Amino acid sequence: MKIRFLGGARTVTGSFFVVEAENTTFAVDCGMFQGDELIKERNRADYTINPAAIDFLILTHAHIDHSGLIPKLCKAGFKGKIYCSAATKDLCEVMLPDSGSIQEFEAKTFSKETGESNQPAAKPIYTVDDAYRALDHFQVLELDQMQQPWQGVELRFREAGHILGSCLVELWVDERGKKTKLVFSGDLGRPAQPFVKDPANLDEADYLVIESTYGDDLHPEVADRPEELKKIIERTMKQGGNLIIPSFAVERTQDLLFDLTILISQDRLDPGISIYIDSPLAIAATEIFKKNITFYDQETKQLIREGHHPLKLPNLKYSSSRADSMKLNEVKTGAIIISASGMCDAGRIQYHLRNNLGRSESTILFVGYQAEGTLGRQIIDGAKSVELFGKQIEVKASIEKELSYSAHADQRELLNWIGNFKSKPKKVFVVHGEEAAQQTIAKLIQAELNIPVKIPDWLEAVEL
Ligand SMILES: [Zn+2]
Ligand SMILES: [Zn+2]
Repeated sequence: MKIRFLGGARTVTGSFFVVEAENTTFAVDCGMFQGDELIKERNRADYTINPAAIDFLILTHAHIDHSGLIPKLCKAGFKGKIYCSAATKDLCEVMLPDSGSIQEFEAKTFSKETGESNQPAAKPIYTVDDAYRALDHFQVLELDQMQQPWQGVELRFREAGHILGSCLVELWVDERGKKTKLVFSGDLGRPAQPFVKDPANLDEADYLVIESTYGDDLHPEVADRPEELKKIIERTMKQGGNLIIPSFAVERTQDLLFDLTILISQDRLDPGISIYIDSPLAIAATEIFKKNITFYDQETKQLIREGHHPLKLPNLKYSSSRADSMKLNEVKTGAIIISASGMCDAGRIQYHLRNNLGRSESTILFVGYQAEGTLGRQIIDGAKSVELFGKQIEVKASIEKELSYSAHADQRELLNWIGNFKSKPKKVFVVHGEEAAQQTIAKLIQAELNIPVKIPDWLEAVEL
């Protein structure tokens, strides 16, 4: 058996792993590369495998760095089923067409700016229609149940605790009567997060493929995260500015609403404060959260029973249309604006940054991972000025980071989770991380858990 590491290898994004076994070839995730131009070029690269030869695909969760190239794969000849959880399917139904429209927009902008319409960048990687066609391949599987997606392959989804519907993948692959168990972590979450249940502990694996986003970092211990948020809100409001939160549309936005609900339900925050969600995708994702209650953890269900639905704040305003979003340009003070993209690379957040970055009374609060090469990364790395819409803008606003919103396990949580295996994997493959994070966690897995580790290279094929 062989695993080909076609994405998420020595980088965070683009997760795409192809397993070639005796009786079948299948893939786990098919994500988009995000970050600087060099890495994004990989999204356009020709396949080094034949997509038509992949029998089926397993999708761990809806995030674009795991799902974003599915329409490209289908366009290139993939004919199989795509297995995922119910919430993942619901989320992909809005996220993939949204991504298709971004691809179309970027291609159009490229042609307009360069006047070159026959360059590869002038053609979208895939269109909205391609995304809708890809959705026909999706098939929902229940968590915690043994499934047989193919002759000689058994599959079980387990809770990953990362975002709504995220799964760990357990796979048993039979070759000539010998079973090999593979585990793919997808993105591993953390205990005690809003909405989602805690990550499941697994008993055993022959080979474990694990993410390492925060392999060299520990999330701050925050006793009372809503309180931290409250302090930032109150300080910004006192200064007469706006609080701008670049946020991922899925999970992070809803987590923020959860904390705001806690503050308001406990009379710790003025219930009249203006909260805007300015992202069509985040609004659509919030609707999907509302309907997928079965995925919620006990704490969230309890809050709802007490009459405080975390997604139904009375003072929450949705800016669905462009016109609603434009109106926010006039709001100079007193607003909490949650907008996407989370790494500030595109989308409506850029308008709010343009309006607020240069104002010392406003605050930009980062609540998520900022990949190398993104605008968000430049800002948190302390850039004195940044380019937006072709103009340099001085950074005068307060820049805050609250990484306890992370939906990823940190270094200690990764080690603890692997340490909980009752029988140790023969080998761990470290993926989905930047170089330093991967090296650090790899050393710790070897030293503390005594398990051999490999950090596969991009496009490397490893024989098991
Ligand atoms: Zn993710
Ligand atoms: Zn990811």
